[in-house]
Amino acid sequence: MSAKYIFVTGGVVSSLGKGLAAASIGCLLESRGLKVNLMKFDPYLNVDPGTMSPFQHGEVFVTDDGAETDLDLGHYERFTHAKLSRDNNWTTGRIYEQIIAKERRGDYLGKTVQVIPHVTNEIKAAMKKVAQDVDVAIVEIGGTVGDIESLPFMEAIRQMRQELGREHTLFMHVTLVPFIAAAQELKTKPTQHSVKELLSIGIQPDILLCRTDRFLSKEIKSKIALFCNVAEEAVITAKDVASIYEVPLVFSREGVDTLALKYLHVEARDRDLSAWDDLVHRVYNPKAEVTIGIVGKYVEYEDSYKSLKEALVHGALAHNLKLNLNWIEAEGLETGDKTYEEQLADYDGILVPGGFGKRGIEGMLIAIRYAREKKVPYFGICLGMQTACIEFARNVCGLAEANSSEFDPATPHRVIYKLRELRGVEELGGTMRLGAWPCKIEPGTLAHKIYGLLEISERHRHRYEFNREYEETLTAGGLRISGSTPDGTYVEMVELPDHPHFIGCQFHPEFKSKPLEPHPLFRSFVGAAYEHGLRRRAEKAAAEVEMFHRPEKVGRR
Ligand code: GLN
Repeated sequence: MSAKYIFVTGGVVSSLGKGLAAASIGCLLESRGLKVNLMKFDPYLNVDPGTMSPFQHGEVFVTDDGAETDLDLGHYERFTHAKLSRDNNWTTGRIYEQIIAKERRGDYLGKTVQVIPHVTNEIKAAMKKVAQDVDVAIVEIGGTVGDIESLPFMEAIRQMRQELGREHTLFMHVTLVPFIAAAQELKTKPTQHSVKELLSIGIQPDILLCRTDRFLSKEIKSKIALFCNVAEEAVITAKDVASIYEVPLVFSREGVDTLALKYLHVEARDRDLSAWDDLVHRVYNPKAEVTIGIVGKYVEYEDSYKSLKEALVHGALAHNLKLNLNWIEAEGLETGDKTYEEQLADYDGILVPGGFGKRGIEGMLIAIRYAREKKVPYFGICLGMQTACIEFARNVCGLAEANSSEFDPATPHRVIYKLRELRGVEELGGTMRLGAWPCKIEPGTLAHKIYGLLEISERHRHRYEFNREYEETLTAGGLRISGSTPDGTYVEMVELPDHPHFIGCQFHPEFKSKPLEPHPLFRSFVGAAYEHGLRRRAEKAAAEVEMFHRPEKVGRR
């Protein structure tokens, strides 16, 4: 069978959860035994989001092959088993880059190069590439219908329908049906307009996923069906839910997958969603709570750490816990009204995530020192591992000026430095160490216990490294290097053996965590944090009892 395509477009406003919708459809199709792949087109001109600010774009999701991609690919990987690579995310910039390279090579044999057919052909070729060897390819078009920049992508999917026919292509449109409080009514007009916009470029949607905060009544559904020229059964309530992991279940109750397969003439077995049912049951029925503090620079923009947040949720779900996540502004630990002890006292675990630039580093070091000395479980990811090494060098090994050459190029103790710069292999652009690299784990370490493996592969996105010249000093002080690249060049993991759970990794394990397969590092960190929380509360309660009975000994507070 040649692959079928589901095209997911969005209307009315952005942020309606097209990516999650695409991922959830993928999940449902997989639950019926079908093989899926997912891809996203981003209509902006940047070649990839790697150079964009996290404020603008949110997280940069890194694939095994080292592509810096849109965060929706993170959803695709978390909800399905599709193996994603740079083929699964294209921007307008990258499409044009290809075309211009071909034009310069003379590949167009003197023809005028145009949006139709050259740009649309390039887009279609990219779609067909990910559709090889799968039953269904789900193609998400970023942006909102009506945007000038998304037109070539819309035109390309229109052509795909012409070329392959109805039985091989399905248009799914995600739109908004808002509840207007003043009128106490759900309004269908924005959806009507959005569909009109699609029709004007030759696309008649087959299924409408209507984002709304309440169930659409039969009347509303028939009204939308009538005005938008779709079947009534194809007007789907995509109701808001508290957990994103409930979306596949909500869609399954509305029968989206059944309908899609009917339209695409695909026979598939009944769905088996038992693992997702169980997951969602755990989401809503936790046995207890755990509170993690993330000390970072981009705290106010949650999207900049999407995968991290999800990986922590997975870690908590693995222990049947509810995760309370607090983002702590690193700079506030240096300058805040409250002391850093007050700010950090109520966390069961402390995490410093990846990041770039000097801002907030001193605050991170304060938090790490606190975690190390007070034996609070600590997890340092990428920058969080680098800062853990700097903190250790400064406060344990007496190298008061230890730093990373990223933050202080003139530091006398470059505990973290740019290794490749020293080797003279600094190229312009794309200078980061990206994607999956193997790591060998030292037997008998915490890392070994956590993974249960001696060789792992994890994804990277960094420029700076641990400087092996300081290995002897730091290990003599008590730091353990528990993971390195097989050739020994790069330090990949560090830990503190005399601490209950202090671990740092140069890679980003959050990119590989899935709700049904929580990453071992997150499972272990959240578990240790929970244990620490129990101990912390027990000690606090005992101290209060003690104070109640013998206030003169304990001293009044
Ligand atoms: N800024 C650091 C580096 O480039 C850390 C990067 C990161 O945390 N992703 O090495």
